[in-house]
Amino acid sequence: MDIKDHIRGIPDFPKPGILFYDISTLLARPDAWQVAMGRMSREVRKFQPDLLAGVESRGFLAAAPLALKLGCGFVMLRKKGKLPGKTIKHEYSLEYGTDTIEIQEDAVQPGQRVVVIDDLLATGGTMTAGVDLLRKVGANVVGAAAIIELTFLPGRKRLAEMDVPFTALVSYD
Ligand code: IMP
Repeated sequence: MDIKDHIRGIPDFPKPGILFYDISTLLARPDAWQVAMGRMSREVRKFQPDLLAGVESRGFLAAAPLALKLGCGFVMLRKKGKLPGKTIKHEYSLEYGTDTIEIQEDAVQPGQRVVVIDDLLATGGTMTAGVDLLRKVGANVVGAAAIIELTFLPGRKRLAEMDVPFTALVSYD
């Protein structure tokens, strides 16, 4: 099965000139979604993770079933102000301005092997922020994975510069 058959490109979203890869159609097809998560779990397993960290919000959609398949924990990297209790924040730069992600202070035990999961890797700004945040709480970030990689953008290179190997199910160039 070609997973790309179930991903659609929507032009001019969220702004003119951007082709947005939409996984709604993949999520709506249980057979294709099962194949996608099966393939991705085999790749993610190679990192031997203790925990998967999903990036809000579409990262959660893949990280939760992958964690169940691999028998490891799942931790949320959320946008500012969403998590209860004590949190650790990380502010990172966007094209215009900054954004902040948060994790619960006790979500990771020091040295635990963590893999960051998102739906799509583009410039790498989101994933590298996730790596920085996880390192702040003592995680050993052993890998990163996404359903989709845009290979014409430097995401994979930026992760490699942080010594984080990356794997993707499908890529677009
Ligand atoms: P980056 O930070 O530039 O790597 O962008 C990746 C983040 O933006 C991820 O959290 C994605 O969910 C989101 N994103 C960027 N482009 C797309 C797209 O075409 N489809 C779905 N999500 C996207």
